[in-house]
Amino acid sequence: MKNQIIELKCIDMSVDGQGICKHEGLVVFVKGMILDEVAKVKIIAHKKNLAYGIIDELLIPSKYRKESKCPIAYKCGGCDYRHIDYSYQLYLKKRSLINTFKNFNLDVEVRDVLPSPLVDHYRNKTQIPVKDEKFGFYRKNSNDIVEFDQCYIQTQLSNEILKELKALILKNNLDKYLRHIIIKDCMGSKEVMIALIVSRFEDFSPIVEPLTFKYPNIKSIILNLNDKDTNVVLGSEEKLIYGNPYVVDEFAGLKFKISLKSFYQVNYQQMINLYTLAKDLADITKDNSVLDLYSGIGTISLFVSKFAKDVTGVEVVKAAVENAKENAKLNNITNATFYLDDAKNPMDKYINGKDVVIVDPPRKGLSSSLVESLKKADIKKLVYISCGPATLARDLALLKEAYNFDTVYPVDMFPNTVHVENVIVLSKS
Ligand code: SAH
Repeated sequence: MKNQIIELKCIDMSVDGQGICKHEGLVVFVKGMILDEVAKVKIIAHKKNLAYGIIDELLIPSKYRKESKCPIAYKCGGCDYRHIDYSYQLYLKKRSLINTFKNFNLDVEVRDVLPSPLVDHYRNKTQIPVKDEKFGFYRKNSNDIVEFDQCYIQTQLSNEILKELKALILKNNLDKYLRHIIIKDCMGSKEVMIALIVSRFEDFSPIVEPLTFKYPNIKSIILNLNDKDTNVVLGSEEKLIYGNPYVVDEFAGLKFKISLKSFYQVNYQQMINLYTLAKDLADITKDNSVLDLYSGIGTISLFVSKFAKDVTGVEVVKAAVENAKENAKLNNITNATFYLDDAKNPMDKYINGKDVVIVDPPRKGLSSSLVESLKKADIKKLVYISCGPATLARDLALLKEAYNFDTVYPVDMFPNTVHVENVIVLSKS
């Protein structure tokens, strides 16, 4: 079977953006193939009822296929939809969501996906692995580094800074101590943070002056020590080599301090639409006590605080909770309180007495104990913001016993990739 070339029609798309074809009882996943396309496909791997193929010759292209301007899109695997028209990307995301909810027997209407204001250069955080003088992105499912000249997802400024930084690091022979580079480019305030994740605290000062002279928007350069051989990027020890240990971004008239270890939404222009949607669905009033679980640096809490009686945020990353507390002060907000806690612990003490709970967990979704607490909770509304459709569907299937819900609102935070954010409001039945 391997290396054989067969003519196939794409009848479905996988959740990771591959075309799905069928051939004599065999399911064939074809990278880069679009729904309804017909192609001669070369089989590159085969096991039992599954095979993987690549397009050898495209016979009937999709009318939504377009030229992908990124020369490394196919290799890097970050942009699985870059060769597809944006409006059709949104259609495919909605279609995939409908299937996911159907698989969990959930009777929900999936609204059209809210398009992102920016489709390219929207991403404000860049993470670049460095190895053997190579600076790039990991090839999909691999530790090989694919180098690039410019990335069409991250901001143009990050592309420029990266190029300069790479030249300076190579010139000073510092690359052997460098494992990763992180750039946070705050699009509201224009402040930039650079983090160099190093295997030992070498003297990186030779890069500081030329870099900050050329890019005065850089307000923070941090060395982060990670000498462990795991796939966790950040270590615990930090050394500040320039500016502040944080950057400040601004949106909706609010200011937010962001530390290296704190989460911040990657699509700045769409973040405000996501939060507005969540706030409107939550229908918060001045007599409501609100709980924001997985609160990060307090963005949602502080955004809704002026519409609510009070807001409580809970978050597990210490740096983020510290940012959230400072952010309340920075914006003169006095009705927001933040706690450092793990959502795996009992959350009842935070939930009790609240009217509205907002949850915004990472991709793995809610812990089972939290689902149980939310089922018992005496709250009016639960707003679930999710970046993982499968775990959202799993959690909704469990919450269904105690809550009513009918409509999912997808928001495209990640154009050109297969990922999609969702918001849904649940009311106690
Ligand atoms: N609502 C915020 C953050 C959302 S990202 C925003 O919009 O910016 C999810 C957040 O959950 C991250 O800040 C992450 O640190 C936090 N988190 C992850 N696991 C957690 C856990 N077990 N308990 C509490 N918070 C957790």
